[in-house]
Parts: sequence; C-alpha cells; structure tokens
Amino acid sequence: MLGIETSCDETAAAIVMREQSGKGTIRSNVVRSQLDEHAAFGGVVPELAARAHVTYLDHIIAQACREAGIRLDQVDAIAATAGPGLIGGVLVGLTTAKAMAAALGKPLLAINHLEAHALTARMTNNVQFPYLMLLVSGGHSQFVLVRGVGDYERWGTTIDDALGEAFDKVAKLLSLGHPGGPAVERIARNGDASRFKFPRPLLREERLDFSFSGLKTAVRLQAEALAPLTDQDVADIAASFQDTVATIIEVRSRQALERFAAQFPGQAMQLVVAGGVAANLRIAAGLRTLCDTLGATLIVPPIALCTDNGAMVAWAGAERFMLGDTNGLDFTARPRWPLDTPDMKVVPDAA
Ligand code: ATP
Ligand code: MG
Ligand code: FE
Repeated sequence: MLGIETSCDETAAAIVMREQSGKGTIRSNVVRSQLDEHAAFGGVVPELAARAHVTYLDHIIAQACREAGIRLDQVDAIAATAGPGLIGGVLVGLTTAKAMAAALGKPLLAINHLEAHALTARMTNNVQFPYLMLLVSGGHSQFVLVRGVGDYERWGTTIDDALGEAFDKVAKLLSLGHPGGPAVERIARNGDASRFKFPRPLLREERLDFSFSGLKTAVRLQAEALAPLTDQDVADIAASFQDTVATIIEVRSRQALERFAAQFPGQAMQLVVAGGVAANLRIAAGLRTLCDTLGATLIVPPIALCTDNGAMVAWAGAERFMLGDTNGLDFTARPRWPLDTPDMKVVPDAA
C-alpha cells in the first residue's frame, strides 16, 4: 500500500505491507517537514503549506518507492489522507492519489487522518480491538474508543485549544521558538514545577473533555507579571505548565480507563497514545504510572509514527482494503471529518 499524507505541514509518503499475521511492515516512510517554511511566522501558514506540498510530493513518493525497492505499478492500492486538515494540502495529496489511481488502474482509499492515528498501534504493536486512544497533537486532543476499523466513539475532546497548540503558544509567549513542545520540555528540565499553581480547567467535571485556553492565559498573565523574565523564571513557568497538563492528562485518562473497564468488564484495558505530544516524557511518565496502577497496558508507538507520516495512512488504507472497502475517484476532500460519523463504517464493495 502506498500512503500519502499532506493534511498539515508534513509532506509524507510510505510503502507499507500488511503481513499474514496482521502486523504491518514499513518498507519505507519518507517525511519532509516544512518547519523551515513556517518558522518565521510562528505557526503553519496554510497557503505556504499547500504550495510546498505541490513542490515536493512527487519527489517524496518517488523516494518512498525507491527506498522500498518497488515500482509504483507494483502497489495493490493507493491511500491518501482525505481530511480532516488544511484543505489546500489535503487537496494536493488526495488529487495526486486520484490521478495515480486512475493512471495505474489501482483502487483508491480516501483515509480519515484521525483513523490513521487511531490504527497505527495495530501496525506497530498488533493491538487488538477494543482499545482506548488518546490523541494529543497540534490540532487535536481527544479520547476515542476504537471498537474496530471504521467503528469509533469519541468520548471527549478539547472545547478550545489542542494540547500541542497550547505547548506552541506557551513557547511563543516565552520566546522559545516553534515548534513549542520540544522547546518547553527542554527548558522545563531546569525548572521548578511547584513554583506556580496554574488552573486546571474542567477538571472537576465528570466529562472527558479538555480545555487549555484558560491555562494558556494564566501562563501569559504570570509571565507578564514577572516581566522581564530571568532564565529561571522561564524554566519554572515551563515546568509548572508542563506539570499541570501532565496532571490533567492523567486525571482524564484515569476516568476514561474506568469508563472503558465499566463498558468492557473483564477485558484487557489498553490505552494507545498518538500525536506529537506523545513525545513528551513527563506526560508519558504520568501515563505509565497511571496504567501500572490500574493494570492497564500503555502503548506508545515510536514517536516518528505518532507524528504525521505516510506509513500510518498506508496502514489505515491496508486495513480497509483487507476488509474490501475502497473509495471512488469522486471522493471529495474534507476540512472537517469527525471519526464518529456513520460514513466511517467499512462498506465492502459489491463484488
Ligand atoms: P494534527 O495531527 O492534529 O493535524 P499536527 O500535525 O500539528 O496536528 P503532530 O505533528 O502530531 O500534530 O504534533 C505536533 C505537535 O506536538 C506540536 O504542537 C508540538 O508542539 C507538539 N509536541 C512535539 N513534541 C512535543 C513534546 N516533547 N512535548 C510537548 N509537545 C510536543
Ligand atoms: Mg505536524
Ligand atoms: Fe496528525
């Protein structure tokens, strides 16, 4: 399966094989991040992103085939992210996939980017259904119950900023650069996490939703109150912020796992983490302790597969293809596409 990903600021293509065992083998996984293009703007500029995808995608696909040692006409099918995401970028990838599918006479799989994140752990760790996914990335923060391919239930989401976005904004206001997550984590190592008590929005409520916008504002007000900031102030703010979100993630994940246990009594509790924020060691450590305490299994795929990449799209395509589901060339790109919609259901094509 060829997989193409262009929904945000990574231009990516990969060749993945689904083995008899059910696991996946990544034959190649080429990712070109556009960090340099957007660095000066402190965030992703959609129009620039789309143009860069146009410039680089065909080279990236050629490289993916080369590294996998196969020709394009040897793939069984072509999968591309069809949403959700920045629509200009999605159009570039999906249209390229359609053109190749038409020219080569191969089936097309129009993949939901969130489904690709959700199923990655099956490729890397052969995780069996059902499991709980925590997706924490630059664009999303949500719990999803994964019952099967195409069978998802969203249990909670952010009502404002995504967690990665909160990291990026905090980094920006502390002048730490973009992307902010890794910078905040690095600086936080030298900081005192107990110096500031930041708010934990929504945490007293039973719902599994997140809210990070108020926390970000509290961090900004603290930084303004202390200005000009010393290096130690910056480190302490970063550490206190990071500890606060780690606690929020831990508390919410405990609730979500308890709900999972109630819904699937006697079944193994599995928590799969996806998205770039999964790289954060403080957050991962909190989740590990929690899962140990609850007797749950924590699965964090290799970080290169947690962030946006083509292999996850190829894998989701392979899972659907094995179930007989393909998409027509008239499939339209979608800027928004929640996972728990009826059209995610696998519909085997009439033979
Ligand atoms: P989406 O996949 O939702 O469309 P995206 O492409 O921005 O969004 P990813 O590429 O999965 O998301 O992740 C990028 C985000 O992860 C950024 O917001 C970045 O700051 C954050 N991130 C990366 N590393 C870390 C880290 N060590 N700690 C915290 N956040 C991190
Ligand atoms: Mg990204
Ligand atoms: Fe993503």
